[in-house]
Amino acid sequence: MTLRVKTQGRPIAIRQERLNGEYVFCFDFKEPFTTCIPNGMPNQEEITSTYMFNKKQWYTLLRELSKIDKSLKDLNELRLYGNLTLYISDSISIGDITVIVQDFHYIPYSVQKPNSSPIQLLIDPSYLTFFDHKKRTSLAKELHTQYDGQCQKCGQRCDYRSMRIKNYGSDNILLCLLCFCNRPMPEITATKQLTKVIAKLLKLSMKNTQDVLNQFPKKYAFVGNSLQKLIYWAWDQDNPILLMEVSNNGLVNSITPRNHILYNNAEKNYIDIIDNRITYADLSDLRFVKKQRINILVDQICISDQFLKKKPDPLKIQRSKNYYTHHNNSSRLPLIVQKANGLHLIDGYTLYIAAQELNIAEIECWIIKEK
Ligand SMILES: [Zn+2]
Repeated sequence: MTLRVKTQGRPIAIRQERLNGEYVFCFDFKEPFTTCIPNGMPNQEEITSTYMFNKKQWYTLLRELSKIDKSLKDLNELRLYGNLTLYISDSISIGDITVIVQDFHYIPYSVQKPNSSPIQLLIDPSYLTFFDHKKRTSLAKELHTQYDGQCQKCGQRCDYRSMRIKNYGSDNILLCLLCFCNRPMPEITATKQLTKVIAKLLKLSMKNTQDVLNQFPKKYAFVGNSLQKLIYWAWDQDNPILLMEVSNNGLVNSITPRNHILYNNAEKNYIDIIDNRITYADLSDLRFVKKQRINILVDQICISDQFLKKKPDPLKIQRSKNYYTHHNNSSRLPLIVQKANGLHLIDGYTLYIAAQELNIAEIECWIIKEK
């Protein structure tokens, strides 16, 4: 059974505590005159209460405040709803009752009562600022230009989306995600099997392939990550590798060669082709085919039923159209397979539709030839 409680007023203190390894934000209230507590609990005037916010709620509150240019010290009227909990240690809850916040409202136009003391703030400064996404992105871009895209700790070049802003003294610096999380840069190892595959693909000796791999990470930029893998992009046009996917322990999972495509001529679906990577799982029956840029008449492109059944995102089409209009070309090229019975589109359907809607007669495509 849960007991629902509410309060309204100005907290006397806001503290940051740790509960089960997670941060919680405790709002302490004293003699909250509108607290409705269940029968049998101490008299309203005698109690103090602690309301616990989780991290998400905390940032929601900061965001709400930042929208109207207010800060935590302006929290004159906060309306809180929550469930009473009994299982919290005294070190976290200093109130007579402890409440897990379910919902809250901030009343923006309330004013501070004349005799109320300032709110005691015991919060790690790094949790006090809320960057709204737009502001954060524009700041990250600004810092990215300022630091030439380099992480201020390890020096790795990165895409700005793979970096995080950190307050360093009074300055903001930009760190790669790895340094931000205190994780080391992986030292890569490619197994013999993968090196062999890469060597064959790049038409290099084993030794030269190893040399190409050894350029990592100097000539690569960190462009993204997930829990399991890190993705690096090589900007140098002379590097035969375009993308490299490395697992957290430094094992090379896959590479995407520049200007080549991985092509499986079996009945397999085209995900592997579009995905354009070599992975261990797919090594067996795949082969590498050179892809070429070529201009193709839009009318000549065959569209499979699979595509025709799809309902493409109008926004995506509009974006492609805008790009065509401004650059006279598309941002990326549709991928076509040349078969005996015609030119078949396998990737870039929205680009195709955009070209059609704009009455463009001929578009540049990647083409691979099926043997
Ligand atoms: Zn770094």
